Amino acid sequence: MAKTAKKEETIAEKLDSLYSLQLIDSEIDRIRTVRGELPLEVQDLEDEVQGLDTRIEKMQEEVKTLETEISDRKNANKDAEAAISKYKEQQNNVRNNREFESLSKEIEFQELEIKLNEKKSKEGKAKIANKKEVLDEALERRNFRAEDLKTKKAELDEIVAETQAQEEKLMKKSATALKKLDDRLSNAYTRLRSSAKNGLAVVRVDRDSCGGCFNKIPPQRQLDIQAKKKVIVCEHCGRILVPNPEEAE
Ligand SMILES: [Zn+2]
Repeated sequence: MAKTAKKEETIAEKLDSLYSLQLIDSEIDRIRTVRGELPLEVQDLEDEVQGLDTRIEKMQEEVKTLETEISDRKNANKDAEAAISKYKEQQNNVRNNREFESLSKEIEFQELEIKLNEKKSKEGKAKIANKKEVLDEALERRNFRAEDLKTKKAELDEIVAETQAQEEKLMKKSATALKKLDDRLSNAYTRLRSSAKNGLAVVRVDRDSCGGCFNKIPPQRQLDIQAKKKVIVCEHCGRILVPNPEEAE
């Protein structure tokens, strides 16, 4: 019964159905493209946050190493001071000048050590202050980006859910519309759509040209297309041509 109904459909109606189907499928293509680009933005932010985390961790390690070094030098100075006290005491009990001089040299050496440690500690503290400044900046940036990421991710999840529902609805519509076409047309449509780069199987005439490959269409052919008495395909790309209501005279 359905078959008879199909036979009764005029070519003009068939062309209209074809073009409606094309619009549905083009919308599906558009949704997929939009959705395909969104995760990239989120991925970029994820990479940036991860990169900042690595940098922050490294800087924190460096600060820790510097702090350990300073604390080691502080301990070394305590030892040096204790040694100096000990040598000074020993100097009170020396038997000769040579022993006294030798202890003086030891004291001098320890004092130099203390000075060196103090100098190095001061340098270390300056380095820590510098690093902490950079670290604070990185932390601030990281938190800012992480916040951004959270928002974008939520947005993406929402859009994905939304567009998926929309896409499913359109796919059902597309399948129904495709089934309504006769086999010859539905096969041609499916074949054209899969072979065309932009997924366009049915195109409108656009400024006297094929809307798919943009080649000029001879005037007589354009009149035939407008008449919608038969299915006309583009001589260059093979796409099915339908008239442009805006260009009809
Ligand atoms: Zn063409």
